Amino acid sequence: MKLVSYWLDTAKPAGDFRRTEPPARADVVIVGAGLTGLSTALHLSRQGAQVALLEAHTVGWGASGRNGGMATPGLAISFGAGVKRYGTERATAMFRSYNDAIDTLEDVVTTEGIDCSFSRTGRLTLASKPAHYQSFQASAALMRELAGQDVRLVPPARIREEIGSDHYHGAMVDPLGAGVHVGRLTAGLAAAVSTNGVSIHEECQVTGLTRRSGYQHDVHTELGTIRGDQVVIATSGYTGGLTPWLRRRIVPIGSFIIVTEPLDQSVVDELLPHRRVASDSKNLLYYFRITPDNRLLFGGRARFALSAPASDIKSGRILRRAMTTVFPQLAGARVDYCWGGLVDMSLDQMVHAGERDGLFYSVGYSGHGVQMATHMGKVLAQVLGGEPAANPWQDLPFRAVPGHFGPPWFLPPVGAYYKFLDLVR
Ligand SMILES: Cc1cc2nc3c(=O)[nH]c(=O)nc-3n(C[C@H](O)[C@H](O)[C@H](O)COP(=O)(O)OP(=O)(O)OC[C@H]3O[C@@H](n4cnc5c(N)ncnc54)[C@H](O)[C@@H]3O)c2cc1C
Repeated sequence: MKLVSYWLDTAKPAGDFRRTEPPARADVVIVGAGLTGLSTALHLSRQGAQVALLEAHTVGWGASGRNGGMATPGLAISFGAGVKRYGTERATAMFRSYNDAIDTLEDVVTTEGIDCSFSRTGRLTLASKPAHYQSFQASAALMRELAGQDVRLVPPARIREEIGSDHYHGAMVDPLGAGVHVGRLTAGLAAAVSTNGVSIHEECQVTGLTRRSGYQHDVHTELGTIRGDQVVIATSGYTGGLTPWLRRRIVPIGSFIIVTEPLDQSVVDELLPHRRVASDSKNLLYYFRITPDNRLLFGGRARFALSAPASDIKSGRILRRAMTTVFPQLAGARVDYCWGGLVDMSLDQMVHAGERDGLFYSVGYSGHGVQMATHMGKVLAQVLGGEPAANPWQDLPFRAVPGHFGPPWFLPPVGAYYKFLDLVR
């Protein structure tokens, strides 16, 4: 079993950009080469800006190369909860922005000719308890009425039309959901930005920032200092002491994934006949999909721990048990890959994008960043370029996590709380 991301292991990097010294200056310096950083760089470079992209590891090393590759419509909280919290108009705009985000992803992939198996398979949301299916019915009606979303309910008696499992109590299908090979996506974006003249610097950790005036900063790295007229922080769940204000507002939660050996076509047709990207309705949810080469990818917040090889192996064992509970027919299937990564949760599970102390940022995708990080790259580029931009997250209060100044000590109690909620609700 390989303890690396299946996506990164099966993608060819766009090039070797390691330990290349940054230039003395750039119009925009971007910290972090995940989907936020890459997409911001792509859209800025299309506007003719000189951009430098600085990454502590390699392109896609963070959550962007480690996720489920599921571009899903809908907020990280339920639509009903969104309406209660923000009112109909604002919640609907936020909800619809996820549709726009999947469109942005599709447009980028098509325009740049990125071969990353982008496919509108649809999203399948599965009810873990009978009561959850009842709330799907109310939720679907609200989504149809307020947002015009074409969601379809799958009653328990017809669940086998969608999944080869009797574990769930009904489902909801949203046809706009899509799957993508995120390793080939991040590599394809790196190739596109490099062609557009963006300088990429891997293994180039940013160690400090000195504000000179307005938005202009000196960005200090292990390999030298670069002056940027504008600076974008795109570090999501890997945000550290470089930007303490942001770090206090992000809860980095470990999420873990296993991937099986390639399965026979007949098995795939039974497990997920429409190859939809699927997740269930628990707080500590499972998510799964079929990869382009017919493996089952199965993920979840298996343990409330940060990703590290020993932790990933333990999580992998837990996930294997979960996978065979949902799909007993996979009891004999070999697991080829197991890895973990950090999801950037915000306290309200909303995206937060704006400017603070002269630095621009977009973070807090809360497990829904494949499409939204790509989309927010486009929005950030518009904001930086002085163009009108539709930023649905503008001016949302961005609360700090009380007592969070360094490593997230509070994960085990938070995990226990959500496990308890899954038992009782
Ligand atoms: C296991 C897992 C499964 C997920 N599944 C899904 C899914 O199926 N669908 C979905 O929509 N979302 C999913 N997500 C969330 C999604 O992957 C993220 O929201 C998204 O990738 C965030 O992209 P990003 O570019 O903002 O951050 P990242 O991809 O995390 O990139 C941040 C980068 O910043 C770099 N960095 C940090 N500090 C510095 C520094 N000082 N100097 C230089 N570089 C620095 C890091 O090395 C890192 O590469 C998942 C996440 C995980 C971890």
